[in-house]
Amino acid sequence: MIRRFTLACVLLLAAVAPALAASSATSSTGPAWLHLLGLAVVGVTVLATTNLTLVDQAKRLDPNGQIADIAELLSQTNEMLADMTWKEGNLTTGELTTIRHAPPGAIWNAPWMTKYPQWTGADGLSLHFKGPDGREFSIDHRASNCTLPNDDVHKCWIRHGTPPDITVDKRAGIPGASAATTCGAGAGSFVSANWHGFLRNGHLENC
Ligand SMILES: [Zn+2]
Repeated sequence: MIRRFTLACVLLLAAVAPALAASSATSSTGPAWLHLLGLAVVGVTVLATTNLTLVDQAKRLDPNGQIADIAELLSQTNEMLADMTWKEGNLTTGELTTIRHAPPGAIWNAPWMTKYPQWTGADGLSLHFKGPDGREFSIDHRASNCTLPNDDVHKCWIRHGTPPDITVDKRAGIPGASAATTCGAGAGSFVSANWHGFLRNGHLENC
């Protein structure tokens, strides 16, 4: 294969040389070697577009300055990509933002609450969600009908699961529960003036 390629190059040069000679014979702007130089410059320009620039090099390095593992995602496709909505997060595994308007069903941790143990679950989170009526519910707070109002250890609502796929009920003290004990208030549902329902498997369910 290499020998055939070399032969093709030789034939190409052989064809170019007479053309250059003819050109120099009818022009007084320069000798034939100048045309050859021009040909060489064109060749260098083409080669440069296939080499890495410093920007290209930087894109291929990981934070430690080593050659990074490169995933050629654009070489793969899937039918769902046309229908899928997505955005790039500003964290490695998510998105940290400020809440101004949250849609019904949105759930978030309130880190400004986690310095109060009575409003924080065993996992160190103080979770809130937006109900169908637009009201904000605080899962780790005290229920208005709590039967142990002087006990800061128990939780009126017990969380299970990893946010946002959580279920809230009264099953305290089992593995993964957000508290060891609960009170006698309700059955783990949430109620406001306009909505009454449960949070199960990350979904709001009407009673
Ligand atoms: Zn309670």
